[in-house]
Amino acid sequence: MRLQVLYPLCHPDKTPDDIEGSTRFWYHFRRPITMAHRFPALTPEQKKELSDIAKRIVADGKGILAADESVGTMGNRLQRIKVENTEENRRQFREILFTVDKSINQSIGGVILFHETLYQKDSQGKWFRDILKEKGIVVGIKLDQGAAPLAGTNQETTIQGLDGLSQRCAQYKKDGCDFGKWRAVLKIGDHCPSNLAIQENANALARYASICQQNGLVPIVEPEVIPDGDHDLEHCQYVSEKVLAAVYKALSDHHVYLEGTLLKPNMVTAGHACPKKYTPEQVAMATVTTLHRTVPAAVPGICFLSGGMSEEDATLNLNAINLCPLPKPWKLSFSYGRALQASALSAWGGKAANKKATQEAFVKRALANGQAAKGQYIHSGSSGSAASQSLFVPSYTY
Ligand code: 13P
Repeated sequence: MRLQVLYPLCHPDKTPDDIEGSTRFWYHFRRPITMAHRFPALTPEQKKELSDIAKRIVADGKGILAADESVGTMGNRLQRIKVENTEENRRQFREILFTVDKSINQSIGGVILFHETLYQKDSQGKWFRDILKEKGIVVGIKLDQGAAPLAGTNQETTIQGLDGLSQRCAQYKKDGCDFGKWRAVLKIGDHCPSNLAIQENANALARYASICQQNGLVPIVEPEVIPDGDHDLEHCQYVSEKVLAAVYKALSDHHVYLEGTLLKPNMVTAGHACPKKYTPEQVAMATVTTLHRTVPAAVPGICFLSGGMSEEDATLNLNAINLCPLPKPWKLSFSYGRALQASALSAWGGKAANKKATQEAFVKRALANGQAAKGQYIHSGSSGSAASQSLFVPSYTY
């Protein structure tokens, strides 16, 4: 009966036993698809929890602070401001960010932490995660464990961290996390991205997303096409569409519940070394066209990474994306690392006395991006030189 309902055009009056020849082939070929719903990946309660978390993170005008730099990446940031990369210095900077006024929760819906930070406290002995939760901010955790080479490719990579992931997710959930992040890296260049890199990374992202959801964490799915290279906007759009199409095919194959996920893509931009420059409106049109062609409307939110853009460019582009005159069935917001922290880091300079200036710099970018997430950012022309500086890092790792 079920087959007759699902495939009336193939065999309107027949039961499987009546089916002959090529029709029987199609029946067997398609049967696994009809079986999947008999083994539901998630209960209705699990789905509701995941979808509620995802919606909270990207509620109107809210985005994510990606403060999950690994020890090495944070070291590079601290080196730029001539501060030693010690656990205490990393803790102090993050304490300043997390202890800003509660009103930050109007523009920050979630914060992604690195393992070390999840288990750190402020100077009064309070867990960072509790400080964030008391502000109504959802706590997330970086789950990928770095890149591994894909042999036989032009230095492409896949991402490690699937072994033991379920246990790690279960522990992080107990310790207060409600979402996870996994960043896969695809590059544009000679023979890149290869079909192997696209498929392998899409599959790993889907496997990660499925494991997260089993453990009550909303997966942030991050297939980043990095901006290294001199390619133009059209080429980035072509590649981004191929990558996202593969990711959503893999998520479907892995029975991932899209309503309980968030996407974290690159904006579609020209390569960092491209001689041609594009306006925020051109970036916005290429980006939303790409998403419109590849990302199902069931996905509640798309939170862009800043990918080395200056703080101000990241805000202007997000604003233009939200003003783009194409259908936009998802929330279009931010999950910025560099573009939310660069001026704050410079203002801090490793000195406790600069706490107020550091917090002001951070709040300023958070508010600007919150407005951009609603298409309401008005560039005042006084962002300061730090906000206009490119934050590009070649072959960026996180
Ligand atoms: P950027 O915004 O600095 O590109 O980083 C965001 C991030 O979380 C990368 O995984």
